[in-house]
Amino acid sequence: MSDTARSREVLDGFRRQYNTPYSTADLTATVCALCGVEAPSECAGIPIPAVIDQADKLMDGTGKTEKVLLFCADALGQHQKNHYTEEFERIEKCAGLAFLSATVMPSVTPVCYGTIFSGAAPCVHGITKYEKPVLEVDTLFDAFARTGKNVAICAINECSIDKIFRNRKVDYYSFRSDEGSFDCAMDLLKNKDYDLIVCYMTNYDHTMHKTGTFSPECDIEARKAADRFTAFAKEMDNSWKQFNRALVFVPDHGGHNADERHGMHGTDLPEDMLVYHFYRICEAEK
Ligand SMILES: [Zn+2]
Repeated sequence: MSDTARSREVLDGFRRQYNTPYSTADLTATVCALCGVEAPSECAGIPIPAVIDQADKLMDGTGKTEKVLLFCADALGQHQKNHYTEEFERIEKCAGLAFLSATVMPSVTPVCYGTIFSGAAPCVHGITKYEKPVLEVDTLFDAFARTGKNVAICAINECSIDKIFRNRKVDYYSFRSDEGSFDCAMDLLKNKDYDLIVCYMTNYDHTMHKTGTFSPECDIEARKAADRFTAFAKEMDNSWKQFNRALVFVPDHGGHNADERHGMHGTDLPEDMLVYHFYRICEAEK
């Protein structure tokens, strides 16, 4: 069996288990289809038809999206959406398109983002437990770089996203805080010519491990995630208004309470395994 067939079997298994037509691995396939870029070689995700239809309608043809920003809010899954209704309503209203997606096991950050950005199952991309080696499999970032597109990744120092996608034709910006990553992504959007920007946010995940999933400290982080997503949308409509563009909310997994004061994830509970990916597609100003 080929690697892609093996991946497809694993991803389909999770789709069936959690009764949703979408996998988080569809992100890479969808973004590549939007931009007319050939997907990474082991990608078994499937372009989401409703996203492609929307782009087709707005841009009179597929493959015409020119600029993409991916906001990777760690651990803000469906379980969090059900609790933080006001914050997620803001995200959904801003984006327009929402897809309940199954992630992969074990539901930990490097395994999940490995799948999201390669489109391959963990057994194929090679990270099958909590560890952060540089991924050797082909990724979204390699696919973009091959067509001459400029890619930037803004993330906290030494986190999974900062480490596992190294050694590629990508500009890496790393910081000691989420504020650093957010401010940097905003600055790149306004002042540089990147085609794909990734902005990672770690602090909801970090906080929920320490305080439980819905603590007052977590409330602040959930609000920041909604604020940042909507701020990116607004700035894209300004700085990128002459481009066909896409903004996507891309969490990796959810999380649940281990006891009264600590959150966790990594299991196959629906609270860990189900996330919404939100897409906002806009056409260039004519
Ligand atoms: Zn995570």
